[in-house]
Amino acid sequence: MASQLPQIVFIGRPNVGKSTLFNRLIRSNRAITHDRPGVTRDRMEGIVRRKDAPAFGIVDTGGITLDGTMAVTEGPDGIRGFEKDILQQAESALESAVAIAFVVDGRDGLLPMDEYLAARVRRMNKPTLLVVNKIDGMEKEEELTAEFHTLGFPLIAVSAEHGVNIRLLEEFLADLIPATWEHEPEQEAALKLAMLGRPNAGKSSLVNAISGQERMIVSDVAGTTRDSVDVSFELNGDKYIFVDTAGVRRRTKITDAVERFSVNSSIKSSTKADVTLLVIDATEGASQQDKRLMDMLDERKTPFMVIINKSDLVPRDALKQLQKNIEEILAFCAHVPVLLTSALKSSGIKKILPLARRIHEECSVRIGTGQLNRAMEQVLLKHQPPVVKRVRAKFYYMTQAEMQPPTFVFFVSDAERIPETYARYLERSLRKIFGINHAPMRIRFRSTHKKRVQ
Ligand code: GDP
Repeated sequence: MASQLPQIVFIGRPNVGKSTLFNRLIRSNRAITHDRPGVTRDRMEGIVRRKDAPAFGIVDTGGITLDGTMAVTEGPDGIRGFEKDILQQAESALESAVAIAFVVDGRDGLLPMDEYLAARVRRMNKPTLLVVNKIDGMEKEEELTAEFHTLGFPLIAVSAEHGVNIRLLEEFLADLIPATWEHEPEQEAALKLAMLGRPNAGKSSLVNAISGQERMIVSDVAGTTRDSVDVSFELNGDKYIFVDTAGVRRRTKITDAVERFSVNSSIKSSTKADVTLLVIDATEGASQQDKRLMDMLDERKTPFMVIINKSDLVPRDALKQLQKNIEEILAFCAHVPVLLTSALKSSGIKKILPLARRIHEECSVRIGTGQLNRAMEQVLLKHQPPVVKRVRAKFYYMTQAEMQPPTFVFFVSDAERIPETYARYLERSLRKIFGINHAPMRIRFRSTHKKRVQ
């Protein structure tokens, strides 16, 4: 039921049209509504079912009886009567929601109570969409929504009454839901690692060196067959699993077929892991397959690192050259770290797990919309978007649409007018500001406020 779906809570002062909006969203999708008297009074829940896309739940924190034009008066409890009557009702919904739809009335303009609510919503640090309702004639859209941009949330203008922009609203709301909403914050969960690389690169030796246990039998005969197993271990209280590890070598079957290293099966293993470790033999360098694999991991936005193993067998200068060579292959994903290790001498091993954790954490960041938009302003100011075909794209706002990897959407006047180089500048800047150094990242542009179709 609705409680198992990610939920978006609707919040706003009275009379802004929340209920009409709520009904529009669920009616247009023939979803079930149910009242839940008793639990939280007057709380309405509904399901927004969508074609070819996962459904999501919406919660209307209704039952608000205060006068919408009530003046803001500061008291010991914040705004008198306000915190108590409205926010307390909405509190649990706000807590359990994955995202917030903050509804305001475009005809009333920005009222103090909206600003107060905005501050409250901001503190939740959840993906938020500002829904400016009652924009009935779209020709007035710019004018009526202008002042609401100052709240710093991504914004959409709608008319619940006339059914304007409801589909778009649905899409925007769906975009607020983190891709991984169902995952608990992973404190207890084991960090899943995939170890990829050519046979004999030293994968088994590395797993042993990292886990500190001789769980795997390492043989020095190339091409022995193995069973694919998961290797779990705990280190300093943290849990780890090497998934799909081409596990225990069978010494007795050394005459069996040569171990396969296919890019496809490697990709498959990496999808089961939080972080992928690609091992390259320092004495061999990066093969064509390694290069293809790096390209594909990058394309798929897989969190990964490259490990140059057997560093004990190669002179320093040659190692440096090899590292440079690999960094060149990774030029378009410069965030991917390259480590030098020797499984045999246990050198460079200690860095691997903390780095893997860090990559995973960076992948899971969620950045508040206010923070993002302040960053966007800064970044645009430093280098404005270039003029393309005599026009400069306008940037309205941005939001984080997904985690794992962090995915940022810029809402702009004309996505076609943003060259790749500028997109790269934006990515570099966001990485710097938010400390996303080694995780993959997606940047998308969406054209909005499109010219009216006559
Ligand atoms: P896998 O096929 O990638 O799992 O490679 P293994 O871990 O089985 O290692 C293949 C061979 O390389 C074995 O003989 C290992 O002892 C050796 N080896 C692995 N890592 C190192 C290393 O860092 N230095 C040296 N000198 N030999 C290594």
